[in-house]
Amino acid sequence: MNIGFLGLGNMGGPMAQNLLKAGRSVLAFDLSAEAMATIEKAGGELASDPTELAKRELDIVFTMLPAAQHVRSVYLGENGLLAHGSPNTLFVDCSTIDPHTARDVAAQAQDKGITLIDAPVSGGTKGATEGTLTFMVGGPEEGFNKAKQALADMGKNIVHCGDTGNGQVAKVANNMLLAISMIGVAEAMNLGVALGMDAKTLAGIINTSSGRCWSSDTNNPYPGALEGVPASRGYTGGFGSALMLKDMGLAMEAAHQVEQPVILGAIAKQMYQQLCNLGHDKLDFSAIMKLYQQD
Ligand code: NAD
Repeated sequence: MNIGFLGLGNMGGPMAQNLLKAGRSVLAFDLSAEAMATIEKAGGELASDPTELAKRELDIVFTMLPAAQHVRSVYLGENGLLAHGSPNTLFVDCSTIDPHTARDVAAQAQDKGITLIDAPVSGGTKGATEGTLTFMVGGPEEGFNKAKQALADMGKNIVHCGDTGNGQVAKVANNMLLAISMIGVAEAMNLGVALGMDAKTLAGIINTSSGRCWSSDTNNPYPGALEGVPASRGYTGGFGSALMLKDMGLAMEAAHQVEQPVILGAIAKQMYQQLCNLGHDKLDFSAIMKLYQQD
């Protein structure tokens, strides 16, 4: 299977390397010379410009870009992938963007007879490196089936979420809940300790009681409540607060488009904005604890 990969950053770089490890041939492109050098060293072939990925009629071209404006600029326009792409190539966008943009760009692809599916991921840079990502895929069944094998080289859960854009819908809904649950755990842990409980004991009770969730039992935000989590090493590593803020922005935008209330989501977004403004944007999102514990 001949594969193209555009966007070799913190996520795309290791994902493309996992395709190479699985024996696929990978034609790669990124604006960063450093990212290009790394993939070449791993055995990838370098494209001289993005249109080469489209013109070669590869089986699948993956894109893994920072945000919606990058996806629009890479796919659309005179020098975009769609202008030079062939219906024989399946395009798979793994970037996290709003469902509206995903559907709009896929519809413009369809007008040219090209299939573009959305396949955002969860699992972070660790999952990208270890090949254990979850892919939430939106698009026609044939596209999903064609991409499945290559996605399995980069992840362990490959889920077809339905029509185009639904991969992004799943991602946005899950991450909004994650932000809210993390704030809930931070607030409860802070209150319990302030009222005199030991953080580890309280976390143990919550984690065997009805308050249990991923934010309490896997990534507890209270320093010292769990071993080996970002909160116990100064909130380093993990999922950056700036990325959580980005995902909350997508959730708010998506909710606005369908006129649905996202009351807790809106508050959570404001809290992550504040955390980032305080200079904690690079810390794991469990650092939201800092809004309760000013030192
Ligand atoms: P990143 O900024 O590290 O990488 C993006 C790459 O895209 C960069 O190497 C950049 O040079 C390249 N790029 C930008 N515009 C380009 C263009 N026009 N042509 C070619 N290359 C271009 O970002 P990342 O952390 O790899 O995240 C990528 C996507 O994955 C984002 O949408 C992010 O929200 C999502 N995501 C990230 C994580 C995470 O933990 N980092 C987890 C889940 C999802």
